[in-house]
Amino acid sequence: MLDLYAVIGNPIAHSKSPFIHTIFAQQTHQAMQYTAILAPLDDFKAAVESFHHQGGKGLNVTVPFKLQAFQLASRLTERATIAQAVNTLRFEDNEILGDNTDGVGLVRDIELNLGITLTAKRILLIGAGGAAQGIILPLLQQQPAILAIANRTPQKAQLLQQQFLPFGNIIAENFTSFSDKRFDIIINATSASLNNALPEVPIDIFAHATLVYDMMYGSELSHFLKFAQQQGARQIADGIGMLVEQAAESFFLWRGVKPQTIPVITLLRSMNFKQGMNK
Ligand code: NDP
Repeated sequence: MLDLYAVIGNPIAHSKSPFIHTIFAQQTHQAMQYTAILAPLDDFKAAVESFHHQGGKGLNVTVPFKLQAFQLASRLTERATIAQAVNTLRFEDNEILGDNTDGVGLVRDIELNLGITLTAKRILLIGAGGAAQGIILPLLQQQPAILAIANRTPQKAQLLQQQFLPFGNIIAENFTSFSDKRFDIIINATSASLNNALPEVPIDIFAHATLVYDMMYGSELSHFLKFAQQQGARQIADGIGMLVEQAAESFFLWRGVKPQTIPVITLLRSMNFKQGMNK
């Protein structure tokens, strides 16, 4: 009997999670099967319960259900409690454990895979949606000099700043009135790149950056990364590494073993290049 896992979202056809977890399972010799579930937009809970009743052991949760997964979980890890968003569920005897592995995935990709330390750096986070919410605590735990959040709708950045103030040096910025434009690391956590749009931040921020990171990924460089490169950013990176690292952390939560991530990142990049796979 194979243990059942899945990623649940809407839409879900684009998801690379079944591919990633199948390779992790082969690598670590785990008897498991991982599929994708398209949940109806108005009945996430029923879709989760149905999977659980079929013997499902755990789920990855993606857009637009991370908040509903947070509410559905009966027990939460500390990082999920603070993020108020859940991307991983583990079914236990009488409980559903909710976790959030997005932030640790991003931090590992930047620090271990790209070799850039976050400690004492000036970091700009653009965006204040579900993804941003999940990565702020792990970023602050690395003790950057400052973490500035800027969002198109400034009130959302201000709310996140207040929510995370107890955990580190965090400020909220306005797209039109940056108090300072010198950032070492700039992270795009908006969905603007999905529509080939650019967040309207001051263009001179990129020239000072050591790393510009777009959490989105695809077969081609995003507009955001191309633009940052043209403006003089020293290093750019897309979100493939984060995707694989957050998956590895979920896998560890479920199976208690850590898969190797670098071979999977390399494989995904080569497949993107050859097959032009989208998000
Ligand atoms: P949400 O819908 O929750 O938030 C969207 C954010 O993008 C908001 O801050 C919104 O601003 C902003 N935004 C959208 N369009 C524009 C625009 N044209 N200009 C400026 N800001 C814009 O999405 P998520 O937070 O869930 O996802 C964000 C991105 O992160 C996606 O691209 C997703 O693919 C990626 N992601 C990658 C992961 C990975 O593992 N690599 C994991 C999770 C997410 P406003 O508040 O003003 O509407």
